[in-house]
Amino acid sequence: MMKRLLYLLVFSISLLITSNATAGENEPPAWIDEYRETAEKLIEAALEPENMDFMWERLAWLTDYYPYRLSGSEMLEDAIEWMHDNMIEDGFDEVYKQEVMVPHWVRNEESLVFHGPWSRELRMIGLGSSVGTPPEGIRAEIMVVGSFEEFEERSHEAEGKIVVWNVPFTTYGETVQYRVRGASVASRAGAVASLLRSVTQFSMQTPHTGNIRYDDDGDPIPFAAITLEDAELMQRFQDRGEHMEVHLTMGAEMLPDALSHNVIGELTGSEKPEEIVVIGGHIDSWDIGHGVMDDAGGVIATWEAVRLMKELGLQPKRTIRVVGWTNEENGVMGGRAYRDMVMEDGSFENHQLAYEIDFGVFEPLGFGFTGSDEAFALLEPIMELTAPTGAVTLREGSSGTVDIGPLMREGMPGMGIDTNTERYFWYHHTDADTLDKLDKEDVAKIIAATAVMIYIVADMEQRLPW
Ligand SMILES: [Zn+2]
Repeated sequence: MMKRLLYLLVFSISLLITSNATAGENEPPAWIDEYRETAEKLIEAALEPENMDFMWERLAWLTDYYPYRLSGSEMLEDAIEWMHDNMIEDGFDEVYKQEVMVPHWVRNEESLVFHGPWSRELRMIGLGSSVGTPPEGIRAEIMVVGSFEEFEERSHEAEGKIVVWNVPFTTYGETVQYRVRGASVASRAGAVASLLRSVTQFSMQTPHTGNIRYDDDGDPIPFAAITLEDAELMQRFQDRGEHMEVHLTMGAEMLPDALSHNVIGELTGSEKPEEIVVIGGHIDSWDIGHGVMDDAGGVIATWEAVRLMKELGLQPKRTIRVVGWTNEENGVMGGRAYRDMVMEDGSFENHQLAYEIDFGVFEPLGFGFTGSDEAFALLEPIMELTAPTGAVTLREGSSGTVDIGPLMREGMPGMGIDTNTERYFWYHHTDADTLDKLDKEDVAKIIAATAVMIYIVADMEQRLPW
């Protein structure tokens, strides 16, 4: 008898637990229901052929007329002015520019000639912020290494040589360390210059640029990227004991800081205009390629998400601020200046969320979120409404959020979009970052997912707890 009773008790408790768990998983909170219709409308609008044509032409226009938008260039400022004027044309409530001083690095003429079993000029690209060579260039023997560990063991051989980092791509975060630190590590051992195997999994003889950093100790030495193909070739020649030299010439130089701008457009909130959801991408790019994936796509997608709200007559309770940040690629001075602005004017705490797209505008898969568990739990039910776009998962941690990084480090919740990045690093920071690499419908889906997420976050009753 006792045994049966106990059994029944255990059974009913487990039933209770199961049914509770099921209710939590399957039934979205009631407040989500009021957004169903709006979410459908936004997705429909983003995928409407006319709107797709409009955003695609805008993306093409920005990157056809204003490619090579490197900090300090006239091209970047022209692109910023173009965005400013077009946001006014769209009827944004407030459109303005924030002054930002940015580093002004220029590449000038550069070349690399290989002298080994044969001689030939190789494809190369100087790395951002690198110093140049003397006008006549530097000719020296090369030393190929596959990792920091290998270099450590052979560092006594580096004196007077040009160190070639032939490091295969694992993850961007890991492999990019060689681009960031490679020159300083080589320089400390007496190397006169350094070359980097481009940071990519796949190559068609395309060198990739990107920013570098010199440590305070040691001489800054010239640093340039070569292709994956040539790095592997040099490795094979070295393994066979061939003598190889290269002649590197780089006219790169750092000029005095230049005046640039963050460009900002707002849709004023209907009930809590002082509360802000800030979204955007970076308007600057490298001085090669057209900067379409990186990051005109992110700028256009966030901007377009808000333009569609306006077109549908939707005005969320909070203000949505679209920002084209300047100088992400070689300084992040735009992201820092925005943080300083909102800290000084006291609006920092009034931000509900910071959202950035800077990891390509390929097929959307979901969102990454950095913030409190309570905020995460509030955002999760929204995924049901973005799911028709393909954005189904909300994960912890965010990618492509460098410009909002300064805000997030001060405690503001931040979000990025997750996309199918399979091909992202094939084109990243190369001459091949051009419009043909993107798919119009994928970009439209990114806009749809962004519009739904951002509209709800800007309109929901609850503040996201920090
Ligand atoms: Zn970027």
